[in-house]
Amino acid sequence: MLKPGSWAWQWRDAETQEVIAALGIIGGATQMILTPTTSDLSMNERIDITRTPCKLGGSRAWFKCPKCSGRVAKLHLRGGRFACRICQRLTYASQSEDLIARLWRQQAKIEAKLGRHWQRPKHMHQTTFERLRRRLWDLEAAREEAFALAVRRMGWLL
Ligand SMILES: [Zn+2]
Repeated sequence: MLKPGSWAWQWRDAETQEVIAALGIIGGATQMILTPTTSDLSMNERIDITRTPCKLGGSRAWFKCPKCSGRVAKLHLRGGRFACRICQRLTYASQSEDLIARLWRQQAKIEAKLGRHWQRPKHMHQTTFERLRRRLWDLEAAREEAFALAVRRMGWLL
């Protein structure tokens, strides 16, 4: 595919024959344009190609990671972006951190109403109090899950 021209693939559901994903490539010696399409993603990314000389002549082509500019043989598509394996893991880890921070902020907002020990303020209805307390339990559970995921992702980096 490292010559001018374009190619396309489609993946279909075995039963319904519905197209579930597609990938288009416009090839070239120094760049490649990838256009993956799924039900929730449609994009167009230009990927640079670099070359290193081979011992016995000729050259070997590599992708240039759009994030770190590193020379890589494989790019991974995740969260709507192509990047090398390491960049994708880092992105994932920071997404977990963002999620944990967001869950903390939501919890802090409710705790501002209930206090740190989750007591029902005198003026608050019992039903409101129970709803907020359930929400806090859910937030704690979600945060634990996000934390476990973040640890696993960070673990991959080691
Ligand atoms: Zn990278």
